[in-house]
Amino acid sequence: MNPAVRLQGLRKTYANGTEALKGIDLAVEAGDFFALLGPNGAGKSTAIGILASLVRKSGGRVEVYGHDLDREPREVKRRIGLVPQEFNFNQWEPVEEIVINQAGYYGIPRRLAYDKARRVLKALDLWDRRRVQARSLSGGLKRRLMIARALVHEPPLMILDEPTAGVDIEIRRSMWAFMQEINRAGTTIILTTHYLEEAENLCRNIAIIDEGRIVEKSTMQALLHRLHRQSFLLTLRHPLETPPEGAPVKLSRFDPYTLEATLEQEQTLNSLFCWLEGRGIEVLSMRNKQNRLEQFFMDRVRRRKAEAEA
Ligand code: ADP
Ligand code: MG
Repeated sequence: MNPAVRLQGLRKTYANGTEALKGIDLAVEAGDFFALLGPNGAGKSTAIGILASLVRKSGGRVEVYGHDLDREPREVKRRIGLVPQEFNFNQWEPVEEIVINQAGYYGIPRRLAYDKARRVLKALDLWDRRRVQARSLSGGLKRRLMIARALVHEPPLMILDEPTAGVDIEIRRSMWAFMQEINRAGTTIILTTHYLEEAENLCRNIAIIDEGRIVEKSTMQALLHRLHRQSFLLTLRHPLETPPEGAPVKLSRFDPYTLEATLEQEQTLNSLFCWLEGRGIEVLSMRNKQNRLEQFFMDRVRRRKAEAEA
């Protein structure tokens, strides 16, 4: 594996004592389309901020394409293009200036910066608007300007922090098409999101972060497979003293009056009901558990509670 990013024991404690990252190990392969998933407050922006030299880490190591953040911060910086969540360009500046000036930050001479700006502005359909003030752009075009600016120094790694929060479907689609295109052309992409739906069609590999810790690393495919399992809660007429054994599907006792059944894609509820009937277990009602990323986190909270009580 040729990692674009390697994080080892990454920690961040903010001045107010908030432990945003509690030791994160993560590797993102060069060329990957990678999602860092997690609920609000999990630590996603903090991790991204450290990578992009916007947040100072409290401990651990960061390497970007083999360059250590502490020893070679400039080498790290020039390999990263960051699209932060909020618009943070000068709204009064013309579109073209914003992009050219960004190139200037990376020490690209003005003449060359102009050529590079033209290339990204054309790629993002902003060329015709290059002379207008950024504030006159629509929300979608502002988003594209953020991307153009992040790409102007041709970084091999592009990081997007919650890129489509508050962005409408059309713009979202065109953004994704563009990101896929540059990914196919070799750019490594990392995005953070708390919407699974956003990442599921795009990303190959994922990590899930919760309360400052990585709680899952997998392929998107494997995660979706797991989340596509369906869970049902069955309410029983009579309490069950012991957990039922030998059921044709995964069955556990949630409480004496409630069973939780988890069905893999190919399993059916019918087989379960036959089995329950054969045991004289009477079901009063059944409800579908919502079962996506939110469920994943709720399950974790429940497990943590159960562990704390045990
Ligand atoms: P996410 O991007 O996953 O929503 P963040 O990385 O923004 O999460 O935040 C992680 C935790 O750190 C949260 O508890 C948040 O309140 C806290 N936090 C973020 N930025 C700061 C800051 N500048 N000062 C103090 N606490 C912060
Ligand atoms: Mg964030």
